[in-house]
Amino acid sequence: MDIRYLKGVGEKRAAQLAKLGICTTEDLLGFYPRDHIDYSHPYAVAEAPYDVKCVVRAGIYEKGGTTRLPGGRQMMKIFAGDDTASLSLVYFNDPYTPKKLEVGETYLFFGKVGGALTAREMINPEMRTEASADATPLVPVYPLTEGVSSAYLAKCVRAAFAAAPRIEEPLPAALLQKYRLCGKEEALQKIHFPQTPDDVHDARRRLIFEELLALQLGLLLLRSREAACTGAPMQAVSLEPFWAALPFAPTNAQRRSAGEILADLTQKAPMNRLLQGDVGSGKTLVAAAGVYAAAQNGYQSVLMAPTEILAAQHAGTLERLLTPLGIRTALLTGSVKGKAKKEVLRAIEAGEAQLVVGTHAVLSEGVHFARLGFAVTDEQHRFGVRQRGLLAAKADHPHLLVMSATPIPRTLGLLMFGDLDISVLDELPPGRTPVKTYAITGKKRADMYGFIRKQLAAGRQAYLVCPVIDEGESDMQAVTTYCDEVARPMLAGYRVGLMHGRLKAAEKAAVMEEFKAGHIDALVSTTVIEVGVDVPNANLIAIENAERYGLSALHQLRGRVGRGGGEAYCVLISDHVTDAVKKRLSFLCHTNDGFEIAKFDLETRGPGDFFGSRQHGLPALRIADLAADSRVLYAAQEEALALIQSDPALRAPEHAGLRGLAEGLFSGDTALN
Ligand code: ADP
Ligand code: MG
Repeated sequence: MDIRYLKGVGEKRAAQLAKLGICTTEDLLGFYPRDHIDYSHPYAVAEAPYDVKCVVRAGIYEKGGTTRLPGGRQMMKIFAGDDTASLSLVYFNDPYTPKKLEVGETYLFFGKVGGALTAREMINPEMRTEASADATPLVPVYPLTEGVSSAYLAKCVRAAFAAAPRIEEPLPAALLQKYRLCGKEEALQKIHFPQTPDDVHDARRRLIFEELLALQLGLLLLRSREAACTGAPMQAVSLEPFWAALPFAPTNAQRRSAGEILADLTQKAPMNRLLQGDVGSGKTLVAAAGVYAAAQNGYQSVLMAPTEILAAQHAGTLERLLTPLGIRTALLTGSVKGKAKKEVLRAIEAGEAQLVVGTHAVLSEGVHFARLGFAVTDEQHRFGVRQRGLLAAKADHPHLLVMSATPIPRTLGLLMFGDLDISVLDELPPGRTPVKTYAITGKKRADMYGFIRKQLAAGRQAYLVCPVIDEGESDMQAVTTYCDEVARPMLAGYRVGLMHGRLKAAEKAAVMEEFKAGHIDALVSTTVIEVGVDVPNANLIAIENAERYGLSALHQLRGRVGRGGGEAYCVLISDHVTDAVKKRLSFLCHTNDGFEIAKFDLETRGPGDFFGSRQHGLPALRIADLAADSRVLYAAQEEALALIQSDPALRAPEHAGLRGLAEGLFSGDTALN
């Protein structure tokens, strides 16, 4: 039912509710409270904590008069208390609540206690009678917007329950039973108007399960639509000409992974594969093998990278590899403009560009592929579900390869990609020596610079990474200051370059080019250099404020060096040496295995990093928290997989409710269309 017609709503209120995303009574019932105030265990006045919101029980002794304050404000003071202490209730600009209070009666007040110990006071506390608190001890607190109070919402929710004829149960009976979950109607009643904290717990458990199940099903459905038949069926080809054209022999792991990709390409269903390999394991080459196979079959490929720097670098590498094999590469990023862009777009549409390398610019509307068959995304965790949908829409079920240096836990993989096949590059190309890693404090900075000067004098290059130092300071300031005040004086006589997020893409690319060409000896940078950048002559990376990063991020940064033979070094600088930091950094000094590092990171920092800082492009959740509710997530994922296996499109009548929920989560998202 349209919310406008609900008792007590109307046009003006409806507009306010719409801002909360509430347009129908169903939306309203699904607008869960974020918390509840529990009136069942009130504090005695003297025992109430200071400055935290709590419920206090007090009797009314005497009502004072109304005082007019300068500026037209009104103040009313009420003297109250119990046998432990007295309490003043001060109401500003609220003549209504004090009017309801009767001298000699006892009430419950919700708010913060302040004032002196001998003169406790509460300002504008919410008030309830003991009788009403007995009847409904828990009061919902809703996430709110301007002009809508929790009390008003609660009233609307009551009206909605009264108006709703029947609430459908979307979960199959078997699941309710297996997990001992309460029914939908009961859960909604209990989340909005619980009688006990157990009610809240039961309702939350049920609703979180439902939401995570719907989320996972939605993602799997997205996937299964893609899993129809690929529009790019391919024949097996020999990769030998490709391997033979390389300046080096592929590792066994590269051969094996390329073989797995080739096998996928010849299947009816489109490939959905994750290529996981530690930094430096040579993922690009494996992707190139796929591009080669696609091209032999007359299909175009696209490779997407998260930044322009990486896109440009990949384009360069791949062009060098593939041009001798007769495969033409084009680069398309935001900075390709005007005539050049027109020409690239034309070549893509005409099918002349057999490999298009770019940023998400390749997803834009004006890009039309003649025959896209193979899509690769590098460091894909940067791409959301939506972007992948857009990519898939560029062709008829293209084959998809996702490359990542970060081992992705299965839970997260399922969430981000649906179900994926995985290839692992568990072997580094020969001749790599582990990067020697040291953790130091700022006291040793001067020594470190001495060491850097030696490396530069020997013709090598270095990265100096520094994060934002003060909150509120822009990364440009921080890194510029560091460059001018520390790095340049310390490296006097050497060419020191500067790179940060505020530079335009073309400027960044130019700096990177100069560094690559050896015109810059040391590059001071924020983490914009991050993943994937490949300058073999650089053999030292120093990371300031190392405690700020996850170990996996540090490992990625460290992977920038040690690519060109000879010794390579990584120095982690931190003045913030707590035991936990020491332990983490020392772990990194002694381990070079990205998988071990990711495991340690996950154990010590939790999955929050995965879910928090990275944009995963998942729809907003109303009650579940991916990190905090991870155990429910596992169960929901297991059930989602089983459901999809038994009923791939959820067409069975008993799955209709679930299908509705799952599709609802992704409606408005092009990924589904
Ligand atoms: P990553 O897996 O980190 O993306 P890259 O694809 O950037 O790794 O490869 C890292 C470096 O190793 C590149 O300079 C690449 O040319 C080189 N490389 C890749 N495979 C081999 C190999 N089999 N033998 C020698 N060098 C290789
Ligand atoms: Mg890479």
